[in-house]
Amino acid sequence: MKYLDEFRNGDIARRIVEDIHRMTTRPWAIMEVCGGQTHAIIRNGIDQILPQGLELMHGPGCPVCVTPLDVIDQALAIASLPGVTFCSFGDMLRVPGSDRDLLQVRSEGGDVRVVYSPLDAVALARALPDRQVVFFGIGFETTAPANAMAVHVARQEGLDNFSMLVSQVLVPPAIDAIMTAPGTRVQAFLAAGHVCSVMGLHQYPILAERYHVPIVATGFEPLDVLEGIRCAVRQLESGEARVENAYARVVSMAGNLPAQRMLADVFAITDRTWRGIGTIAASGWRLADAYQAFDAARRFGVQDIRTQESPLCRSGEVLRGALKPTQCPAFGRACTPRTPLGATMVSGEGACAAYFHYGRLRDDAPVHDDPVVLT
Ligand code: SF4
Repeated sequence: MKYLDEFRNGDIARRIVEDIHRMTTRPWAIMEVCGGQTHAIIRNGIDQILPQGLELMHGPGCPVCVTPLDVIDQALAIASLPGVTFCSFGDMLRVPGSDRDLLQVRSEGGDVRVVYSPLDAVALARALPDRQVVFFGIGFETTAPANAMAVHVARQEGLDNFSMLVSQVLVPPAIDAIMTAPGTRVQAFLAAGHVCSVMGLHQYPILAERYHVPIVATGFEPLDVLEGIRCAVRQLESGEARVENAYARVVSMAGNLPAQRMLADVFAITDRTWRGIGTIAASGWRLADAYQAFDAARRFGVQDIRTQESPLCRSGEVLRGALKPTQCPAFGRACTPRTPLGATMVSGEGACAAYFHYGRLRDDAPVHDDPVVLT
């Protein structure tokens, strides 16, 4: 398939890996920001074919994983209300709140629906004028334009039975927080290519300069990830720290300008709490003042719900790259995809789930040969 198979070519991958081995003269720690990249790395065994000492650290870029438990519980409270049709992408339905998940709410009679676009929820609001239709608007800069468009359309059409529970987060403030965290070991970043395709690259030079870290816009296929690593290693070995685009077939410096205009109209910057990490200043979006009437948390009075995390779960350290999933004492024991203690185990993009699904066992478990799926 064009743009997929050609970026999974084993011969080319081997040549890039050889190049990386040739270039690497000392240990480096590179963080891939996005959970999709983490899955590509673990699924393809990329971390296992790199030079010894070249460490890939898994970053916080999984939207489901960083959505705070408070917000999950707010979603559960709204979805349980009579007269509410609660719409979400499918990956949020199994994310555990403090005592249940959205699937359980549905099994108890709640009208919880999976949609494939926030505009599907707007269409439902049109079709069901007697019900309150709520969309669960979470994620990074990638999901935000479509979410913004849904609210924009709802306001344009005067749909007062549509609202959105918003928990949108932003990548550059997270990079800033990671680099200022005590003991951080990150020396370079693979930036999330799809985020860069929307927002462009102009937010990153200041970070690369401030922390002297290479930041490489990187895609999600095996060759994309390997190319991102090669670019990062080349910079690290030569002492450079600049923004580089290793995903030029998708990312431009300016990004998607119509999407950025829509975001600027519908959203305003706000402080956001990241699950497992804490509050990061100016790290997310809320609905702008002109769109406050569409804020589901206000409409249903759930904004004060506050919840405690499981004390066993160390997903905050996993999301900061400070801990590998297999180093969490609960990994594969108390915490599995069937019994997840944290969102990094339940989410399709979570690092803990990636390690579990692709057979990475605990450090004290027998060694397992991972399948390498490069063609
Ligand atoms: S393995 Fe489970 S408990 Fe441990 S950090 Fe991951 S999600 Fe949390």
